[in-house]
Amino acid sequence: MAYLPDAVRPPDGPVLALAARLPLVLRWGSPRHPGRVPGRRPACPTGLVGAGAYDADFRRRLLAVPRALTCCLLPAVALAGCTARHGQAVGSPAPNGPVAAAPQQPSDGGSQEVSKAVLITYYGHACFTVAAGGKTVAIDPFDASVGYQVPDLEADVCLTTHGHGDHSNTKAVSGGQATLIAQPGVQQAAGLTFTGVAAPHWSAPADKRRGDVVMFRWEMAGVALAHLGDLGRQLTDEQVEQLGHVDVLMVPVGGYFTIGPEDAVAVIRQLQPRVVIPMHYQTAATSDRLPIAPVSEFLKVVPPDWLKAEQQTTTLELTAENVAPEGPLRVIVLQYE
Ligand SMILES: [Zn+2]
Repeated sequence: MAYLPDAVRPPDGPVLALAARLPLVLRWGSPRHPGRVPGRRPACPTGLVGAGAYDADFRRRLLAVPRALTCCLLPAVALAGCTARHGQAVGSPAPNGPVAAAPQQPSDGGSQEVSKAVLITYYGHACFTVAAGGKTVAIDPFDASVGYQVPDLEADVCLTTHGHGDHSNTKAVSGGQATLIAQPGVQQAAGLTFTGVAAPHWSAPADKRRGDVVMFRWEMAGVALAHLGDLGRQLTDEQVEQLGHVDVLMVPVGGYFTIGPEDAVAVIRQLQPRVVIPMHYQTAATSDRLPIAPVSEFLKVVPPDWLKAEQQTTTLELTAENVAPEGPLRVIVLQYE
């Protein structure tokens, strides 16, 4: 629980939204794999951010800078009357009491509730679900040829970056009934806006027969996500501009069919996300089927000033504050089972 001293208690609604976001928690865990018993986070030096559930030394390093900034800077911003970047009131300080988690408020007088967290779940290869605000987006469901167990997914929207079987098993998503988006351009579904940007699925001209993929960019709960499919080359300036701001980047790193480790680093530098989730690499599930490199090859070439974490879980939960611009870029490897 976090407490706001009277001196920094914000005066009105939009500011409350920011103040209520002060207790930041970056949580790992999977409904399917609850994972480790979390430790206790050290108390914030200012006392504005209390204990939370996370463990491991990496996480302490991971959040050290953002937490310090959260403790020290955000109250000042709140006092200045700055509205939250993704302003949605989610709590309010009780008189002389803590900032309490409160039921989410309708936005702009409407009835739609907006979750402040985005839950990303990895199923292997290039397949994820991203859930927030009661909506779920599935991306690149694979068929049995890849080697992973084919998941049975429920989602409102299914994105497929291209028609190859390892990315377009749409029947695995809500029995094929999810809204399918597979084309470039701006498209809307389930109240979300998706920007599809075409890119080559090849590097050498001899591989042009593979055709193109569609990279997707969309936002959920104030977090901008992008999935690059089987991108085969570094991005052009135009593609970078079309994708725009990206907080969380799902990027292929395994090479052969896609960009490899070095080009993946270059693409990450092009888009400058805050969180990177590598995908489309060799694992025990694919080792006798696909000639792609393991994620360790990518991790070897990750610059030393980026933080790296190999999680023991399939999921990552983020909020807009977790991907704020402060602190180093984070590379997070998720498990697929
Ligand atoms: Zn592929």
